[in-house]
Amino acid sequence: MKTIHTQHLSIWKKILSVSLFPIILLSSIGTAIIAISSDFDLNITLFTIYLCILITLSIAELIIPRNNISIIFKRDIIFTVISNLASKVSLIIATTITIALSDYISFFEKLDIALWKEIILAILITELTIYSLHRFMHRKNNFFWKIHSIHHLPKQIYTLMQSVIHPLNMIFVFAILNIFLQLAGLAIEAIFIAILLITIMSAIGHTNANLKLGFLNYMFQGPDLHHFHHSQNINESNKNLGASLTLFDIIFKTFYYYPHNYADKIGITNGDKEYAQENTIKEQLLIPFKK
Ligand SMILES: [Zn+2]
Repeated sequence: MKTIHTQHLSIWKKILSVSLFPIILLSSIGTAIIAISSDFDLNITLFTIYLCILITLSIAELIIPRNNISIIFKRDIIFTVISNLASKVSLIIATTITIALSDYISFFEKLDIALWKEIILAILITELTIYSLHRFMHRKNNFFWKIHSIHHLPKQIYTLMQSVIHPLNMIFVFAILNIFLQLAGLAIEAIFIAILLITIMSAIGHTNANLKLGFLNYMFQGPDLHHFHHSQNINESNKNLGASLTLFDIIFKTFYYYPHNYADKIGITNGDKEYAQENTIKEQLLIPFKK
């Protein structure tokens, strides 16, 4: 673990590092509420917010960087395209399975409760599903760790590298998540908010912008927490497994936070020959199929 010093920052940079997370979270949720009440296309809204957050955080990384990094732009863009396609595939698989199951499972009817209750339920289902699958994948030496290990290979973490994920990892997690959300009979608006929250927090958690969440670190998976999850130290990387919230990490005792401290080394140790170089995309995609 190493300590991050912020005393050298100018007052404006300190204000930016403290205020950027609440600004992004509140403006995204505000935009989502306007989109729902105005009947906007929710897929377009989600993608627009996603792009705005990527651009905002990438600019913030230039102004208030946490570490000196060099971006592997080509790898990140290719993985961004692959993971977006994989998320579409997962939705098609989930919808097909849900329709097939709905013939047999009659007790999953459309919920008839207030939208805010459906939103809370959608967020809880999302958090518990991703926490459980993520924890399962971190059990080393199995196929699922191999498909997840690609996401832990990069030795630097920043906003754009969040998409460095094996497509099978995306399909495995998001097909199961979408099946649960659809079978629960949740309104599309509630599912939209739950997916929006993990979209926001995935970008925030990986960013190299020196965001200061303060007490919000006990609620949200910000960079202070998620960077520990990318540590080479296995005692740190098996912690902070939640998607957006710390709720299930706290309940299941995998919450890991030392204020003002930061993971010493990011990535997976080079000692293990099984891991390919982080910037060879083809090698990374083939990792799960190697012995
Ligand atoms: Zn992980």
